[in-house]
Amino acid sequence: TDRQPKYNRILLKLSGEALMGDGDFGIDPKVLDRMALEIGQLVGIGVQVGLVIGGGNLFRGAALQEAGMDRVTGDHMGMLATVMNALAMRDALERSNINTRVMSAIPMSGVVEHYDRRRAIRYLSGGDVVIFSAGTGNPFFTTDSAACLRGIESEADVVLKATKVDGIYDSDPVKNPGAVKFDELSYDEVLDRKLGVMDLTAICLVRDHQMPVRVFNMNKPGALLNVVVGGNEGTLVTP
Ligand code: UDP
Repeated sequence: TDRQPKYNRILLKLSGEALMGDGDFGIDPKVLDRMALEIGQLVGIGVQVGLVIGGGNLFRGAALQEAGMDRVTGDHMGMLATVMNALAMRDALERSNINTRVMSAIPMSGVVEHYDRRRAIRYLSGGDVVIFSAGTGNPFFTTDSAACLRGIESEADVVLKATKVDGIYDSDPVKNPGAVKFDELSYDEVLDRKLGVMDLTAICLVRDHQMPVRVFNMNKPGALLNVVVGGNEGTLVTP
């Protein structure tokens, strides 16, 4: 392809729910294969890809807490869920001949490598996709925060948050047909307008480190590649 990437290294955040496809729990192998294909296109044009995958398709600490479970235990289960998703995604990527490493913030010897920043950067520089799993390793955080943290740590050029809608709107576009989409926003606008794009911890982290974030619709085939070659997909959040 003659399309020049705009970014050398990206951190892509996929929600766990994105892996469910049309189901309401678990992992749809067809979705994994499509994502592997789209990620492969980025690798094909020389983009270094770090991935953070959520766990909401399997377990969420807050939801388990509502059902009566201890929150920290629930969050541990949520983080383990992200490792399962990471293993499934690695499988799909490697079946597409994309070299993939899974690192976990929680040591899990014999299953995945323990997260090590310098090693992760070496893998990324060598062209391997690196999946950062188990979130931040701590309860009371989200995988959005983990994505921002790993993006900043690994010196990615941008954090790309894949969602089910076309970007950030002034109200929920699913509930409100008149919702208006923003092309660009500042971190402070996201905070002031209480636009629930990411949790506050994540927004504050990217704001403090001036890490740009683009929110886009991964259900739109080709949108990911378009973002990476500089297309105007979704919403860009910057200073
Ligand atoms: N989690 C956590 N610490 C982290 C990241 C995640 O405790 O650093 C837990 C938390 O319970 C969360 C679950 O893992 O609900 C799954 O992550 P998240 O809800 O962010 O997944 P997503 O919504 O992206 O699918």
